[in-house]
Amino acid sequence: MASTFDISGPALISFSGGRTSAYLLHRILQRGLRNDVHVVFADTGKERSETYDFVHECAARWSVQVHWVRRPSPEGVLPFEQLITDRGYLPNPIMRMCTTELKIRPMKRFMLDRGYEEWTMVLGIRADEPLRAAKLLAPTKERWDHRLPLYRAGITEAHVMKFWSTQPFDLALRPHEGNCDLCFLKTLTKRLDIVREHPDFVDWWARQEERTGQQFKAATKSRKGEPPYRSLPMLARASSSSSQGAEEGGSVDCVCHD
Ligand code: SF4
Repeated sequence: MASTFDISGPALISFSGGRTSAYLLHRILQRGLRNDVHVVFADTGKERSETYDFVHECAARWSVQVHWVRRPSPEGVLPFEQLITDRGYLPNPIMRMCTTELKIRPMKRFMLDRGYEEWTMVLGIRADEPLRAAKLLAPTKERWDHRLPLYRAGITEAHVMKFWSTQPFDLALRPHEGNCDLCFLKTLTKRLDIVREHPDFVDWWARQEERTGQQFKAATKSRKGEPPYRSLPMLARASSSSSQGAEEGGSVDCVCHD
């Protein structure tokens, strides 16, 4: 019997290195992967090492080829850093050039390089994310349309977490720690929580602010006037741990999947 996890090509499965998209990949692999269906991980260069390990482990344990794509940059320079240099400004929630240029465009290039003119983009959006699903299921002017098997199958975060609790391996990160290590879209509470354990993550983000003379900002009014990244270690030391709160809200909405 046909399943929502049967993917006909040409298609790209966007694997973010998070638990949800890994679960999606697992379900699709159970049905069999066709030759013109490609699994792609877009590397911003700012992902956590735990994410990289998880992507490698999924590929190895499940015997699937995961294609890593990256925006080109000079040797030794992070694609993200080069992007900011090229544009001369920092990404923000309205002009989220990091998502577009570091993830979406390299995935598009991957498919174009293989001669595809149009394709399906398969994303790990769950049934408990109806707003994100609605946006993605609207007509698009791109070369691809979106397919959301988890959403269609009624899979929620609880299903995903239950699956991983039974597996011999897992992503070694809490939900709010995924994606770029101190992504500006994470709430201040979540970033402080991460900084308490990893103060060394701050320097790269602070340097981007300092060299552009700008500040990373999120959209909502309450987030305006946020402290510069350089001050986060001090703020983290001054405030108490809120890891419980940081668990809430899950991961950042980047490429519309975890
Ligand atoms: S996780 Fe955040 S910083 Fe990284 S690409 Fe996505 S929006 Fe940009």
